[in-house]
Amino acid sequence: MVFFRFTCTSCGKATEEEALRCPLCDEPMDVEADLPSSFPPVKPKETLMERFRDFFPFADPRSDLSLGEGFTPLVDMEALGRSFGLSSLWAKNEGANPTWSFKDRGTLTGVIHAMEMGYDRIGTVSTGNMAASVAAYGARAGIETVVLVNKGLPREKLGPIAMYGPRLIKVDGDYGRLYHESLRIGKKLGIYFINSDAPFRVIGSKTISYEIWEQLNRSVPDWVVVPVSAGGNLRGIVQGFVDLVSMGLLNRLPRFLVVQAEGCSPIVKAFEEGAEKVRRFDSPHTVAHAIENPFPPSGNQVLRLVRANGWSCKAVSEDSIIEAQRALAFNGLFVQPASAVALAGLKKAMADGTVEQGQSAALILTGAGLKYTAVFGQHDLSWTQCSLDKLEKALR
Ligand SMILES: [Zn+2]
Repeated sequence: MVFFRFTCTSCGKATEEEALRCPLCDEPMDVEADLPSSFPPVKPKETLMERFRDFFPFADPRSDLSLGEGFTPLVDMEALGRSFGLSSLWAKNEGANPTWSFKDRGTLTGVIHAMEMGYDRIGTVSTGNMAASVAAYGARAGIETVVLVNKGLPREKLGPIAMYGPRLIKVDGDYGRLYHESLRIGKKLGIYFINSDAPFRVIGSKTISYEIWEQLNRSVPDWVVVPVSAGGNLRGIVQGFVDLVSMGLLNRLPRFLVVQAEGCSPIVKAFEEGAEKVRRFDSPHTVAHAIENPFPPSGNQVLRLVRANGWSCKAVSEDSIIEAQRALAFNGLFVQPASAVALAGLKKAMADGTVEQGQSAALILTGAGLKYTAVFGQHDLSWTQCSLDKLEKALR
């Protein structure tokens, strides 16, 4: 068995007992494991967990569970970056994952851990991306998969989850409480809940940082811009760069820009008010549904990271999200509104001088555009029509 332990992100309590949250202070837990002495070279046809097996405390990288996650492109957005006055702008296109979002990395690590622990049932509480991802990997693993969503989830979001054949249950009740109830019931009934900030899901996101560092020729940008909801993805990406610093491969962390939609920005609000803890955001509403979490379970840890490192947080307007989505599409990348939030945040941070002219940045584009087609109504899309015999004239 490979050694690892859980450590609390807040009080530092360490335990080898399985812990999704700290038994002392109820804050999220990190997974602490040994790191390799060097960075593995790329070998053709390896799966993500084969590639990074030395970074993860698994007995077996379980290539049989892989759906081809990770190894996503880091696209050079030269023209867009130049128009902002940046020296370089890159986009980590996580929509290129098997279920079209970054979640697949952490779902895989979560499922491997659950199976190594002997679980034969997994579950998740989600409103979209995580639900589809867990349903897909549960199907791949051939184990019973429970997906809990809130009662109001519209039909068009249920189909892409139900397609994988999980036990999909619409639960009538408070969504925030559902997260905690799932952990309690899961423990009792032997269902391993891979929720948004479960420690073994969070560490899957470390591979995003390893890949960026390697794709940039063993360097990092000045800024990494991350849309933040529950906070798990940000925690994982930060940990990935911290690993590279610990291994002596990097001498400084990139700075992080945490971005939320104004319509649901509990972390930014707490940051601006100087509060120590994130409070529930009243009546959340934003086109960036995938990051509409009014009470992020890793919110306090995101706040601690931003403050301790002197990073920054921005909340962006609905109009600026739509505008950013269009700007990315006009440069060839159609992403979901929650991902466009990153570009909108970068633009805002450049306008107020947080990010300076001549600096470099990487946007984490968390999910693909076809995840949320209802947004077409918010863009002024148009097309024309002509008869076949008038085609040549129309194209002149
Ligand atoms: Zn604690």
